[in-house]
Amino acid sequence: RAKEAGGNGVGWFTPELVRIARERIQLEQDLRVAVERHQFEVHYQPRVQVGSGHLVGAEALVRWRHPRRGLVAPDVFIGLSEETGLIRSIGAMVLEKAARQQVLWQSLGRRLRISVNLSPRQFGDPGLVDTIARIVRDTGCDPQQIELEITESVMLGQDESTNRALHQLADMGFRLAIDDFGTGYSNLAYLQRCPISTLKIDRSFIAGDDGVSPLARLVITMCRMLGIETVAEGVETEAQLDWLRTQDCDEYQGHLCSPALPADQFERQMLTMAGPA
Ligand code: C2E
Ligand code: MG
Ligand code: MG
Ligand code: MG
Repeated sequence: RAKEAGGNGVGWFTPELVRIARERIQLEQDLRVAVERHQFEVHYQPRVQVGSGHLVGAEALVRWRHPRRGLVAPDVFIGLSEETGLIRSIGAMVLEKAARQQVLWQSLGRRLRISVNLSPRQFGDPGLVDTIARIVRDTGCDPQQIELEITESVMLGQDESTNRALHQLADMGFRLAIDDFGTGYSNLAYLQRCPISTLKIDRSFIAGDDGVSPLARLVITMCRMLGIETVAEGVETEAQLDWLRTQDCDEYQGHLCSPALPADQFERQMLTMAGPA
């Protein structure tokens, strides 16, 4: 086929494709070095109670402090780190940093719930639960103050081992949240089958111009019936927040309050916000 297209057998490989392949190889090399040299940082985005405006928690979001490219967003490297298996080290590192931060802020008198993203690929690791148990021991964190965010794809592909891992983590005291809810296949059966504490409504259902999607309303109502807490993601305007108030949504995250910030900045700017007594 390459011969047909290019005549010389290599014509199919356009300069553009070669460039993309080179970039990917470079990125993969850089990513391996980044893991060895601890080039990752964890930033924190406030989680705010809709009703009271209280700061109640934060989501831990990884960033890569690349020596030449500067701060790199997770969308650029999470996919590749999943494909290469590097997500295991990166994921464990993020959880450990977040757990230490939770303990530190608690020692400063702020009991925040920190949420951490787990990639579907991490559930393919038979050592996942042991790794997390080790992090609990090393950091002395209270798992009840940590929420593990998983995507619907984890729930749907659910095999025996994933199912067992989810129940073990819940038994250890971790809260489980479904992230980006509404963007997946939404087979709702798992909400009853699994010990889910929180459902995060994807930004795409919050970011309408004329009010918020009726689907968001349905999700909030359903969660109330199931005893699941709701978090609205990507809240950017007062109008969106007003709407969430009328719907009894529990918490929100979004640029309206603040983007994710480095830990020291979060401490200076966010810990001044009122919190629950
Ligand atoms: P996510 O878990 O759904 O995180 C929410 C994303 O929305 C974050 O992007 C956050 O910065 C962004 N965001 C928050 N508020 C607003 C807003 O008001 N408007 C807009 N436009 N965006 C907002 P970020 O930090 O770039 O992370 C992107 C995704 O990368 C995350 O989506 C998550 O799926 C993944 N990710 C981030 N950190 C980790 C990690 O430590 N492990 C794994 N496995 N995935 C991670
Ligand atoms: Mg998340
Ligand atoms: Mg999300
Ligand atoms: Mg997302």
